[in-house]
Order: sequence, then C-alpha cells, then structure tokens
Amino acid sequence: MRRERPQIDKDFDHPRTADIKPAVPVNVPKMDTAFTALGLGDPLAFAVQEMGYVTPTPIQAQAIPVVLKGGDVIGSAQTGTGKTAAFALPIIQRLGTHGRLRCLILEPTRELALQVEEAFQKFAKFTDLRVTIVYGGVGYGKQMEDLRRGVDILAATPGRLLDHLEQGNCTLENVDILVLDEVDRMLDMGFLPDVRRIVGKCPKARQTLFFTATLPPELEQLASWALNNPVKVEIGRQRSPAETVAHAFYPVVATQKFDLLQLLLSQTDFKSVIIFCRTRMGADRIAHRLQGGGHTVGVLHSDRNQRERIEALEGFKTGRYEVLVATDIAARGLDIAGVSHVINYDVPENAEDYVHRIGRTGRAQNTGDAFTMVTEEDVRDARSIERYMGVSVERKKIDGFPYIYSALFDDKALAETAAAAAKPVSRLHRGARR
Ligand code: AMP
Repeated sequence: MRRERPQIDKDFDHPRTADIKPAVPVNVPKMDTAFTALGLGDPLAFAVQEMGYVTPTPIQAQAIPVVLKGGDVIGSAQTGTGKTAAFALPIIQRLGTHGRLRCLILEPTRELALQVEEAFQKFAKFTDLRVTIVYGGVGYGKQMEDLRRGVDILAATPGRLLDHLEQGNCTLENVDILVLDEVDRMLDMGFLPDVRRIVGKCPKARQTLFFTATLPPELEQLASWALNNPVKVEIGRQRSPAETVAHAFYPVVATQKFDLLQLLLSQTDFKSVIIFCRTRMGADRIAHRLQGGGHTVGVLHSDRNQRERIEALEGFKTGRYEVLVATDIAARGLDIAGVSHVINYDVPENAEDYVHRIGRTGRAQNTGDAFTMVTEEDVRDARSIERYMGVSVERKKIDGFPYIYSALFDDKALAETAAAAAKPVSRLHRGARR
C-alpha cells in the first residue's frame, strides 16, 4: 500500500528551539538511588532525579536489567506506564559515549516521535550522546544538518526515514539497537511494509525491542522475523480504564448530537476536555461549530500540517485552548497532564481505542470523566466496548434536553440489538487511516 505523501511545511523544523544539554558540562555527583540499583550509571540516575523520578515503575524495574544485558524484548506495556524510560535509560547506558548512529526508534506518529525524542534528550542530558529526530510534514533542512553532524540516537517516523535513506543522508548499517514502538498502531496505519524495509536495512546482529498492545498474526510474523529469543515483558494489558475515570454513555439520535454536546459542555465544570471524532472532516466541523459558540479550540488530526498539530497540542497543554478536538491519532500514547474530561463525540470503531481515548483523563491519580454519545448506529460498538472491558457502562439522560424519541430509549429494542450484537468484531477489519 502506498501512502499519500504528507503536505510539507517547509518553514518549520522543530518545536523546540533551546538546547537541552547544559552549555557547560556539569559535574555529576556520585549517585545511590533505586535507578543505580537497577544497574544504571550516575549521569542517568542524576538526569531522572532532576526530572522528579524517585521509584522505577513496574515496567522499568522489569525491562531495564534485561535491556542492559543486551537481550531482545517483546513488551505489551502502554505509553503512560513509564515505558519510554524503560527502554531509553538502558539504551543510553549501553551506547556510552558519542560515536555513530547506533540506535533507531521507530514511532507511528510524529507526536509520539517528538515525545520520545524529547525524553531521550532529557535522559541523555549529562552524556555526550547526540539525539535527533526525522519525521514527515516539515522541511528537510534541519534534519539533514543534524544527520550530517552525526547522531547516536535517532527517533523517526517510517516514511521520512526512508526518504533520508534513499537520499543517502544517513545509513542504518551501524545500528546496534532497534526499537519498534506501538507496532500495532503502525499496522493500523499501513506502515508495516515500510517498517519491514527499514528493519531489513539494519544489521542482523543487533538488539531489538518490540512494543505492541496486541499481537495479531501479521505482527507475530514480524516479531519472529525481527526478534531473536525475546524476553516477554507484560504490564497487565490495560483492558479497563483507570479507576479514577467515571464514564457514561449518552444515548442520542444523530441529528441531536451537537446540541447534546453543547449542553454537556455548558453543564460541566471542566478544566480541559478532549473531544474525539471518528473522521478528520468530522473533527474540523465540530471544532468550527464550537469556536462559533465561543470556545477556544485546538484541532489535532492527520490532515493538519505539522506546525498546526504542534500548535494545537501545545496550546491545549498550556491552557490556551480549553477544548482539543481530535481523531484517534491523539488517543494513544500522548502524555497530556490534567485532562479533566474526554468526550467521545463518535463511538470508537474498536473497543481498545475506547480505553486509550479515555486513558487521556484520570492520569496520575487525577480524576476524570468520560462521556460517550451513542446513536442507534453505535449500539453494537458500544456493546463491544462493554464486553471488552467486562463492565456495563451507565446510560445517562440529561434532564430538560428535548430528546427526539428513538428505539435507543426503548429497553426492549435495546435488548434485541444487544442480542444481535453478540458476535465480536475482529480488530483486523477496522479502517486504516485516522
Ligand atoms: P511514558 O509511559 O514513557 O510516556 O511515561 C509517562 C509519564 O510518566 C511521563 O511523563 C514520564 O516522564 C513519567 N515517568 C516515567 N517514569 C517515571 C518514574 N519512574 N517516576 C515518575 N514519573 C515517571
């Protein structure tokens, strides 16, 4: 499958303008922490201390010693569990000092690639290792300069990396450590042929770390080809959302969805809310209507150029936008603190995405609410979400809303629809582009 080439914003390189490394080398003190106890050196323990990490998370405790020993890993942990540090810290330790491009991390989306690159920069702050990123939708200038200057660690999205390889701007022949992150997402997005080509350009003798939430046959095949005797690291698959999230389904006929959304927003005391839509056009339409209603709104989906995507995400993180309207590109992995509400304007096509979407709220002990609009067409998907999580979600009606009657509100009809929906939908048959 050939992907569309993204629109390129030539005047934009990278959202970060300042260097993370200290201008003058810092004397790293002798460290004795839970991170040095895992086998990490002082510069890394010092860097994570500066970032406020005190105790390793379960995946860090499990994975760091394995990665340090040089073994392959197949991990099912999600972003949000401390996964990035679990692989980044031992990788940095293994690389030691500046040399050639020896570590490649492939990510499915530009946002994740940027997030991971930033984390690597911070962890490697007190080393001389060089970290950079190549990703699509932006100019080639800075990326080419960075590659020519020499890097040790490269975070990348597949398409742009292949462009650089074809142009001879870098080579993977010295890659010792390959990280394939969110591989199931790469499968969904149609990146698997690109990923295979990239893996094929890395030396066979290398360490490979492979992260995925699910292992459908295509990925099992890829894993058995790319990995050598891997150790499994599993941090309980996140079937149920955090207990700090209260969730509810709001039945409504399709023509009243936007009115109900407005009412929900006006009745809710929210700090920041992400509204998920199924399609890019749908997201634009909702954002436009909300802006018309006086809300400050950021929009994040794959048709927007990179500057717009970063501006939307940063604006939302800093509070300039109270609402972020997004497609599922934002559902997975992004580390956004303090989201008080998630509203699913459209029910996600697959149950797993529901858990990812509502995982954007209720993070790190904060409480959150997740509202989902359910139309007649969505009843089946709503049921499969409940089946997947093993809980039933409360159906709510808002007093005073002029509901148009539909079979949605008829208990008997609902029970019949539920029986018809008993057949599970395969996760392999879902749409590819978000
Ligand atoms: P990740 O799963 O890598 O996206 O990490 C999720 C968030 O947890 C990020 O903001 C990390 O900086 C943070 N984090 C990761 N490990 C730790 C730790 N051991 N202690 C405190 N925070 C952490």
